[in-house]
Amino acid sequence: MDTSYDFEFLNERIAERYNPYQEGEYIVIQTWSSNVRLVPLHRGFDYREAKQFCEFENLGSDYNHYSLRIVYQGKLHHIGYDGAPTIKSREQDWKVAADYLQAHYDRSSDGEIEVCNCSYPFFWKFKTYINQHGEGADKLIPVTCLMDDHSREIDNCPNCNARLIEEEEEDTWEEAPDTCKGCKYYSENYFMPCAVHPYGADDDICPDYSM
Ligand SMILES: [Zn+2]
Repeated sequence: MDTSYDFEFLNERIAERYNPYQEGEYIVIQTWSSNVRLVPLHRGFDYREAKQFCEFENLGSDYNHYSLRIVYQGKLHHIGYDGAPTIKSREQDWKVAADYLQAHYDRSSDGEIEVCNCSYPFFWKFKTYINQHGEGADKLIPVTCLMDDHSREIDNCPNCNARLIEEEEEDTWEEAPDTCKGCKYYSENYFMPCAVHPYGADDDICPDYSM
């Protein structure tokens, strides 16, 4: 099905932005962007022109930040003082696999693509697991969604190593007596939950409670 997004490609000027990048091309990109697709604001082989464009864009925007990159050996690179490529950029032109893109834009589907701060897109999908009560439950897990690397479960961003999932909620306090909840002396040891009061506190308020 065509979306309005697809129709944009009929516009030559817009379609041009998505042509494959060429070696030595200077590209102005929006950094810290949450776009699934890297959208270049300027492309060209003239370093000074690209640099000027980038500076101008940055002056004109308080909220967005734009950076200049060069295509070198097929990857985006930072640029040295003379316009030559230096180190590889964290931002790359990631190619998301079609079915993940489709799921992302399909509002009735469960999963969606999120973009890491470094520009790397990954997919949140539902996975069924058995919880501590022995019941089947769903949780969202991050998986890779690139054309050449997809459906691989990940905990960290493969591009910048940022942690993508929050640590599991601690269930430690669920079983603890109300008096003991949050106390540093409490342990989950069934036979002796607390070193100070092995058989539990005598009153509702424990005199030795300590965070
Ligand atoms: Zn990342």
